[in-house]
Amino acid sequence: MKIAGLLLLVLLSMTGVAQDRSLRVDPPFWWVGMENPVVQLMFHAEGIGTAEVLVNYPGVKLLRKIRIENPNYYVLDLEVSKDARPGKVQIVFEYQREILYAVEYELRARVSGSRERKGFGKEDVIYLIMPDRFSNGDLSNDTVADMFEAANPANPNGRHGGDIKGIIEITDYISDLGVTAIWLNPVQENNMQAYSYHGYAITDFYRVDPRLGSNEDYRALVDDCHEKGLKVIMDMVFNHCGGNHFWIKDLPMENWVHQFPEFTKSNFRAETAMDPYASDFDRERMLTGWFDTPMPDLNQHNEFLAEYLIQSSIWWVEYAGPDGIRMDTYPYSYKDFMAKWMDRILKEYPRFNIVGETWLQKESHTAYWQNQSPVSGTYDSHLPSVTDFPMQYALKDAFTDKEGWITGLNRLYYVLSQDLAYADPFMNVIFADNHDLSRFYTSIGEDYHKFKMAMAVLLTTRGIPMIYYGTEYLMTGEESKGHGFIRENFPGGSWESAVGSWQLAVGEEQLEAYDYLKILLNWRKNSEVIHQGKLKQFVPQDGIYVYFRYTDNDAVMVIINKNKEEKTLDLKRFNEVLKEFKKGIDITTKEQFFLESNINIKPETALILELK
Ligand code: CA
Repeated sequence: MKIAGLLLLVLLSMTGVAQDRSLRVDPPFWWVGMENPVVQLMFHAEGIGTAEVLVNYPGVKLLRKIRIENPNYYVLDLEVSKDARPGKVQIVFEYQREILYAVEYELRARVSGSRERKGFGKEDVIYLIMPDRFSNGDLSNDTVADMFEAANPANPNGRHGGDIKGIIEITDYISDLGVTAIWLNPVQENNMQAYSYHGYAITDFYRVDPRLGSNEDYRALVDDCHEKGLKVIMDMVFNHCGGNHFWIKDLPMENWVHQFPEFTKSNFRAETAMDPYASDFDRERMLTGWFDTPMPDLNQHNEFLAEYLIQSSIWWVEYAGPDGIRMDTYPYSYKDFMAKWMDRILKEYPRFNIVGETWLQKESHTAYWQNQSPVSGTYDSHLPSVTDFPMQYALKDAFTDKEGWITGLNRLYYVLSQDLAYADPFMNVIFADNHDLSRFYTSIGEDYHKFKMAMAVLLTTRGIPMIYYGTEYLMTGEESKGHGFIRENFPGGSWESAVGSWQLAVGEEQLEAYDYLKILLNWRKNSEVIHQGKLKQFVPQDGIYVYFRYTDNDAVMVIINKNKEEKTLDLKRFNEVLKEFKKGIDITTKEQFFLESNINIKPETALILELK
């Protein structure tokens, strides 16, 4: 063995990040005072697994030392007592009485108030940002010397140079728009040769991609958002990693990833997780097949990998302070592992919220993944929020299909009527589009009236609305042309050193859309009845859909008239809600409507009335 007689002294810097890449320890540092007193350290260095290990620090006990299959890894379980003081834990790896590696592992004091991280909820509207495409605040990091892919803004699938600094520069814009939370696609390092600007091919779980900024920049963004009343949701991925991750170059254990004699793709049928008639073959293929050639599928049934992933998520929440997590491809990881992960997160942060990406076709399949779902049998995911794809399909169909018994606006009616499958459908994250779907404005044929009606539904029906960046000025893009076309650069921003000049880059109708959304969003921000109210809907008739959000004292009436002509709406049908109220005030124009026998609704209009 090469290392015999070799003396290597590797010290960690004050920040805990290894100066010498020849030794790596994850997590890079930890905290005293966590609910779970045990932290599992994974060391990666040549031949470290052949060494003897010594740990010396008051209040820290070496519970377990595990030599895993590959001798370049060593795993230690340390118990950190509540009385241990923050400081540097001496960890020495010896071979034949000579020091191979010596590490000063940093234990920090737990971040003040971190246990009370408040989470996001029904009062919020989320704004989804693809960091590479939103705002370029630092032209010097567009290309970074030791990263494989250089910037190429002309390539729809290339890196365009957007970064965290750029987002910080326009958080005022985001806050003014009236959204209350931002979700960024993953910010962790994606050091792949091509097509990783989206962030879902993570090559280092503990490092922000240097083309987006640094870990400190991400933390600064969270702090800045908090000062402006915005929450931050961190995107995480446990199902797969990028093929250039150091694990893949030097596998810790054979079963770290799902391996096949030849490349084997997932069948992308997440329904096999709960289909009572699913074959084992299909379910295995869904769970263990790879998403794509550069994305090895991780085996969370390996206990060390499982712990690594769980700790990485806790590390980010404690270190950077986001208010929630969006977990990618939720059903594609082992579901017992995901429930365990949820328990661990909620143990450290009881008020936290997590939304799992549950991209399924049907209501009951989606509901299955939510905490205490009535349709999940003996399985409990412990997951508070799911992404409501059935609602997204219905929202599009409602405004593109002709009216019929089960079509058009009735699609919304039928989707909502199946909410009995959910434990709490008001915690579903609802959306008109996202970074994987055609831009909503494109999918409705760039019809501005339909756009306004759909946005009115999105922001007043049950659920936590999510708006994809650029929706506010009618950004277009067809998914079938390639994902680059649905993730185009946000105009203005700071792409050409023109911070905040986006209004100059768009036309009249876009500015009108922005104003409309801004009114709706800022109204929703303060509308208790939308945050806490119940929902009552009436069967759509003659192209008109009416529903109410209501509490004991207040009510909001939403009327969608899809017809191309003005309609007179007879109010008798709504007496059970209207009886207490004399008039309604249009939240966008402040016009008053007297609720006596009927009201006139303009063509292709959403009328949102606050009832008095
Ligand atoms: Ca940049």
